[in-house]
Amino acid sequence: MSKVLGLQCKECAALYEIGAKHVCELCFGPLEVTYDYDYIKAQISRKKIENGPLSLWRYADLLPVETGWDKDVRVGFTPMQHARRLGAELGLRNLYIKNDSVNPTFSFKDRPVAVAITKARELGYKVFACASTGNLASAVSAAGIKADMQTYVFMPSDVESGKITNAAIYGAHLIAVNGTYDQLNRLCSEIVDEENWAFCNINMRPYYAEGSKTIALETVEQLGWKAPDHVVVPIASGALYTEVAKGFSELVEVGLLESQSVRISGAQAKGCNPVAKAFAEGEERFEPVRNPTTVAKSLAIGNPADGNYSIAIANKTNGLIEQVSDEEIVDAVRLLAATEGIFTEPAGGVTIATLKKLAAAGKVGPDELTVAYITGNGLKAQEAINDQLGASMTVEPTISSFEQELATMQYEVNTESITV
Ligand SMILES: *Cc1c(COP(=O)(O)O)cnc(C)c1O
Ligand SMILES: [Zn+2]
Repeated sequence: MSKVLGLQCKECAALYEIGAKHVCELCFGPLEVTYDYDYIKAQISRKKIENGPLSLWRYADLLPVETGWDKDVRVGFTPMQHARRLGAELGLRNLYIKNDSVNPTFSFKDRPVAVAITKARELGYKVFACASTGNLASAVSAAGIKADMQTYVFMPSDVESGKITNAAIYGAHLIAVNGTYDQLNRLCSEIVDEENWAFCNINMRPYYAEGSKTIALETVEQLGWKAPDHVVVPIASGALYTEVAKGFSELVEVGLLESQSVRISGAQAKGCNPVAKAFAEGEERFEPVRNPTTVAKSLAIGNPADGNYSIAIANKTNGLIEQVSDEEIVDAVRLLAATEGIFTEPAGGVTIATLKKLAAAGKVGPDELTVAYITGNGLKAQEAINDQLGASMTVEPTISSFEQELATMQYEVNTESITV
């Protein structure tokens, strides 16, 4: 008996044994981990989870690894805060922020990586690699140190300099690729065929994806074992978005929730909007975006692997998928900071700007229990915002100079009376 049944094709349901494998041999559909929920139901309980580690490993019964995970690093179990001030601004009384920007390498990517690297070690791999839009590279690079594996990370050469530094500091072999993410992802798919490497988001993708769902499991636990009415999730490849849906349904499957009907809404940037565009046009399949241009670089995937599944989930859960402009994204980054004290990267701005749009259009009700997922930290991507901010005043080192400037500043603040 074991909790994991194998890898199952999402298209034709063919079943495969656990291994470093991500596409179906029969139909080329993507594979996902499938579980024996009756077996898990007999093992798991709210109490067991609550007494577990303060990390995503408290949900180990629902993750596709046997043992051997790193108990020291606190990946996941991130804070959730009732966003009263942002809620007041948007007219939402029951708004929560799940703050995944405070993971060990400052994005939610530490979740999928924790699961994928544990599995890669279990399968005997020595090298762990990834194709990254920025944040995955730092998560892989840091996890490689503690797992004692060599790491290779591939990133577009035009990502924010903070993303490069944050990956390089841990000593990964860092390969900057002159091209889009989709081009470097194709390159990495060819490397998988040549080298005996575990690529966390290619041949290890089914395990990688499972790590993402833990954000949904935590959401329910942190709400006191209650499902939210609505969540807003940013979409790059669509792994997080689709796995959030899986997380909520699994809790019902294993008897930790009586029922759930969470609306799952998605957020994309206008400059890289394949899923949002298809959704708006009522299409079931997206058209790839060839040259993404958006300030939200970590979401700049023009050909998202889980794009079509994301559209299906939005339709099934009565969710919506919106797109927002770079200007709205940057404004939303500032709004979240000014109302909730959280500095997020542009991806978080995409989420908040989308939420704002939905609220303004009456598509999120004022009392709907809504959770917005903030997936990355602003300190890693300061370019987007730097030129808008600076010192409030510059003074001479004398009390008279200070008092004089302070008087002017207070006048300005009072007349503006802030929009938050
Ligand atoms: C990678 C990433 C996402 C979403 O990724 P998916 O590929 O859709 O799972 C969202 N936010 C940030 C900050 C990211 O780095
Ligand atoms: Zn298949």
